[in-house]
Amino acid sequence: MAATLNRDDRNGALVDRFGRIVRSLRISVTDRCNLRCLYCMPAGPITWFRKERILSFEEIERVARILASLGVREIRLTGGEPLVRRDLTVLARLVSGIAGIEDLAITTNGLLLKELARPLLLAGVRRFNVHIDSLEPDGFAEVSRRDSLDLVLAGLQELERLGAVPIKINIVLLRGLNDGQIPRFVDWAWRRPYQVRFIELMPLGGGEPFETERLVPGSEVRRRVEEIRPLVPVGRDRPSAPANVFRLAGGAGDIGFINPVTEPFCGDCDRIRLTADGKVRTCLFSRTETDIAALLRGGRTDPEIALALRTAIAGKEAGGCLDLHQFYKERLPRKMWQIGG
Ligand code: SAM
Ligand code: SF4
Repeated sequence: MAATLNRDDRNGALVDRFGRIVRSLRISVTDRCNLRCLYCMPAGPITWFRKERILSFEEIERVARILASLGVREIRLTGGEPLVRRDLTVLARLVSGIAGIEDLAITTNGLLLKELARPLLLAGVRRFNVHIDSLEPDGFAEVSRRDSLDLVLAGLQELERLGAVPIKINIVLLRGLNDGQIPRFVDWAWRRPYQVRFIELMPLGGGEPFETERLVPGSEVRRRVEEIRPLVPVGRDRPSAPANVFRLAGGAGDIGFINPVTEPFCGDCDRIRLTADGKVRTCLFSRTETDIAALLRGGRTDPEIALALRTAIAGKEAGGCLDLHQFYKERLPRKMWQIGG
């Protein structure tokens, strides 16, 4: 086991074999969701994780605390839909209070934000990424398979009312389904304090098998945006940030492009993921996982768990997006909603 460790002098940082330092942890708190986005989940019945497999808040906090002691500084709660996990504010308070954690964010579909934005902010959540694939009710219902646009818009209004801005908006564009919405999203970013980010569709294998024909390359999206309004380059918030950001001259918000398929950013990745059933994954596209739940529940000590985490991170793959062709052919056994986006 120790042979695979890449011990680094940089204050014992979590360094992988390519020299990347892990600072960011994405925690999936549930595999359940109140939407069924076409590209993420199947329409039919889903076998959820059994309740006893799901990590408790105390177990999650323990993993996060150990990782924070090793240099992780940012946590993002995701899912499934994180806001459907009961008492999520309790978890938010636990992890935002961990020594060393500087930033707590949430990725959500926004349906429950109107009720939960305020308690989550009070519990220490600093930033919200809200996913919305269409600004038109029928288009929203078509892509998300639920008629819930009003709820998301109410949640966004509540975030603005509470001053939780800027808000990042995630849109996955699907050719022929919602790419006609580009002008509405550009207009929205011009008027509202949002960073509107267009995300390329990845072959994560959970929904409809249309990942090649529906992909809209980021370069095309950028050209279509620039036909509407000029873009002023800003760059990435930090080198490991997935979005390449542009300012809309004279507007309230920004536009970002997240192009994992055509412009992979794996070389600067600083993320690992903890799934709702307690597996650590060092890449969205990992073929192997470390069963942290088994260690937590098997009476292992914090140093033993720290060693397992270090070992997993030492072996972090170069990056799934560098080798996507295999994932178009062969669907991943664990799907996006079971990993944590
Ligand atoms: N339910 C929350 C949400 O929708 O934001 C959090 C989990 S969701 C898996 C996180 C993000 O992953 C969303 O922005 C979603 O659009 C994106 N996503 C899901 N499947 C994807 C895929 N195949 N390719 C690209 N992005 C995807
Ligand atoms: Fe649910 Fe998010 Fe997947 Fe949509 S993308 S089905 S909201 S987990």
